[in-house]
Amino acid sequence: MVDTWQHRHILSLSNFTPTDYDTVIRTAVSFRDVLSRRTKKVPTLQGRVVTNLFFEPSTRTRSSFELAAKRLSADVLNFAPGSSSLTKGETILDTAKTYLAMGADLMVIRHKAAGVPHVIATELDRLQSGVGVLNAGDGQHEHPSQALLDLFTLCQVLNPDHPHIDSLQGKKIALVGDIIHSRVARSNLWSLTACGAEVHLAGPGTLLPPGFAQAFQRSPVDPPGLTRRIVQHATLEPALVDADFVMTLRLQQERMTQHLLPSLREYHQQFGLTHDRLKICKPEVKVLHPAPVNRGIELSSALMDDPARSLIAQQVASGIAVRMSLLYLIGTRGRDAVLLDE
Ligand code: ASP
Repeated sequence: MVDTWQHRHILSLSNFTPTDYDTVIRTAVSFRDVLSRRTKKVPTLQGRVVTNLFFEPSTRTRSSFELAAKRLSADVLNFAPGSSSLTKGETILDTAKTYLAMGADLMVIRHKAAGVPHVIATELDRLQSGVGVLNAGDGQHEHPSQALLDLFTLCQVLNPDHPHIDSLQGKKIALVGDIIHSRVARSNLWSLTACGAEVHLAGPGTLLPPGFAQAFQRSPVDPPGLTRRIVQHATLEPALVDADFVMTLRLQQERMTQHLLPSLREYHQQFGLTHDRLKICKPEVKVLHPAPVNRGIELSSALMDDPARSLIAQQVASGIAVRMSLLYLIGTRGRDAVLLDE
């Protein structure tokens, strides 16, 4: 299954091919089966050490990586910056090297600055450590595991028994809101377009500048026949017309350095999702949000809590199988691996 897997680290989806997405989804399906059993654990990473280095707050991603690593029988170390030697002036690289000296095999890294996981991965490679780094969100740059769990969620909705990336071909997916500050949007742009979906971006001009999509039209690893389809809109309606899925993004107020919106109420009026607004989408349209949600701003509470429309809980659930699959793929790179049982 993993013969074609080349990645030592997962830092960005810009270097993922359709084959990589297919591998992740097929591996996640195997782990979904494991998670449906009474004993939800496999010995795949027994004896390996997974370190969660979260320099920025997180609820879902940190817990999800921790549970995924434990389901694979790894030993897990959780690092909390507030109570660490960072408060005594230790550098981030020295923190990483400390965990390396303890025998870490995999490092899951989140930081508010773009590029930190990349810098750590480069240093670990320079030291020929063999440690794999997974980017769990770096500033506004990327959040690969979030986009991959979104992809798995979509594939499961479209084909519950045999989730497969081909089911995304030709689907219209609206990506709405604070695109410019969103690492989730950037990673999703790479993954959704590589799998054949047509992505329609919509947001106010301050959060979606003209020409934003240009950077995502082509990746050096794209196979010759791949055409990435992205359309930008300054208003919500054209993005919603006939959409199969709508993914709305949190207003990243912690990353806004100036006033970019007249008011939250006006933002909700123009770009907030409600049942009424979705009437112009496909009748079976579903809504995604990476969470945490600002209730009543990105989407109405009624929509968020509507199980017929909202995939938010499924996104969280998909995260475990997808992160198991990423830890497995990076942690074993196909070598002496026990995917399911001994
Ligand atoms: N949890 C996601 C992230 O870390 C989305 C968000 O915070 O809005 O990027």
